[in-house]
Amino acid sequence: MAEQPTRESPLDRIRHDRDRFVAFAFTDADILIELDAAGTVLFSAGALALIGQTVDDLADTSFADQLDAESAAELQTLFDSPNGQHRWHGETLRVTGAQGKPVSFRVSGYRLPEMDNHVFLSLAHLPIQEPTAPVVSEEPKSDVFADVPDLIPSDGFTAAASEKLSDPNTELSLIEFTGLDALSRRADADELAQFLSGTIEKLRAKSVDGKSVTTFGGERVGVIHDRDTDIAEVSDALAEQARAIDPDGQGITMARTEIELDKSGLSDADAVRALVYTINRFAKAGPDAGFGSLQDGYEAMLEDTLGRMEAFRALVENSNFEIAYQPIVNLADRRLHHYEALVRFDGGDQSPYDLITFAEDLDMITSFDLSMCERIIDAVKADDSLRVAVAVNLSANSIQNAQFMKTLDQLLAANQQLSRKLLFEITESYEISDLNAANKAIQALRQRGYRVCLDDFGVGATNFDYLRVLQVDYVKIDGSYVRSVLNEPQAKSFLKAIVHLCDDLGIQTIAEFVEDEETARFLRANRVRFGQGFLFGRPEIGLPARELSPVPA
Ligand code: C2E
Ligand code: MG
Ligand code: MG
Repeated sequence: MAEQPTRESPLDRIRHDRDRFVAFAFTDADILIELDAAGTVLFSAGALALIGQTVDDLADTSFADQLDAESAAELQTLFDSPNGQHRWHGETLRVTGAQGKPVSFRVSGYRLPEMDNHVFLSLAHLPIQEPTAPVVSEEPKSDVFADVPDLIPSDGFTAAASEKLSDPNTELSLIEFTGLDALSRRADADELAQFLSGTIEKLRAKSVDGKSVTTFGGERVGVIHDRDTDIAEVSDALAEQARAIDPDGQGITMARTEIELDKSGLSDADAVRALVYTINRFAKAGPDAGFGSLQDGYEAMLEDTLGRMEAFRALVENSNFEIAYQPIVNLADRRLHHYEALVRFDGGDQSPYDLITFAEDLDMITSFDLSMCERIIDAVKADDSLRVAVAVNLSANSIQNAQFMKTLDQLLAANQQLSRKLLFEITESYEISDLNAANKAIQALRQRGYRVCLDDFGVGATNFDYLRVLQVDYVKIDGSYVRSVLNEPQAKSFLKAIVHLCDDLGIQTIAEFVEDEETARFLRANRVRFGQGFLFGRPEIGLPARELSPVPA
């Protein structure tokens, strides 16, 4: 950001610096909190809506009351540490908030003795997937096998597994070492490390290729092996060894279940995805999740996953969804600029969010995104009176998929005349693992003349840094900031910093969730270019017959 030669007053200068520092702090945080030595909230800023709070709600309350018991105890360690030596960096904090539903954050914090022992916390939201089926235990077991070298983590398991498991002579055994987490705290560290690596070695020796053993978090591992291989024999031996290294002589309990792939109507790749998704959900569910046995619990979850996958696939294949359109207006004159297309699965008002994230987790979103693109292209072609563009949401998963981009490119090449009538919003951008590759995909769209918008800017890890790599036409400032901009003084600094940065980079800004006049006026005064929200129009099924008449400013 180039600095202007200053004609600012000293007070403006201080304000400007403060805004800048707060903006820097927000590049890695969603919420900032300052507590006095008694743990009372003195200052809070940012996306407090994430925890169902406002600045006023939190002021002068005890922050520990917002946390679950474990996090509250952790917070106390900051207050108890001598001379503020104890710092937090990257720990997980669970805020129960107003709804009593835990929201997880990565937290950094420290106590400053020279500032009256105040504690400073910076919270970055950790998006979590809420399971729909059985209850997940509050405290998942730590991954006891995490330090064993070269063990395949479960998210790297899909590709390897799909290849191996498509052979009908192989199967996957899921093994649970109940009590291993507790044993890891009792046993001698060297003996334990030896036991863990020895365990993995023994299982590897039984696997199809000498390496297909995966940790599924907690106390669970998976092994892909020949159907004839006797895994029970190894697990009995391991239970015996665990007892030998246990000072209490208690040992662990082994449970095992074989997982079948031959589920009706699914291709191998889908079956494996369902399996990995289910096992990962299952890995998060603790022993208290209320299942009779490992087998029952797993099967109940797998059935649920398969049912939902089939339902989603049928929706996409039959194009059995509707499309709602919501206007995005120019904030200066309130004239319609373009529409955003939002899918509706139930024909009504319900948010598609849960189903969309499920499809993203199961790698099914690309086929949906493509189907949506086809529908929008048809709708735009069919409407001669349409004078403005329609924005289609594309999941970050999709633009990172080479096959998807190739198919989309063919579709767009066949409809080149529509380039000014379509634009693309990239959602879930915190899921972008390779920014350079994503930028290449974005530039391919822009070279064809389509404009691209980065959606939900400011959420999760989507920070300012992204804009160093991704060249886009629009940034859509996430609704959680827009909604709090009037009540939370620091949200204003954040918003101004985004606009300033985008101005410098030649990117236009859109604010979503504009629900009232005051917010709209504020945004305009702060040079946000476009607005979307209930104030200007709700999403409505079907492309409106005519442009909206301009709303008076
Ligand atoms: P998004 O792309 O950020 O879409 C904006 C969401 O904000 C929409 O929710 C919209 O109904 C809602 N909204 C708009 N104005 C306001 C307002 O003033 N106040 C409030 N409280 N909400 C407002 P919706 O339709 O439930 O969609 C949720 C998310 O699902 C979308 O967020 C997007 O990430 C995803 N999604 C929706 N349609 C599609 C699609 O066709 N493809 C993909 N990949 N994702 C989609
Ligand atoms: Mg969007
Ligand atoms: Mg959004």
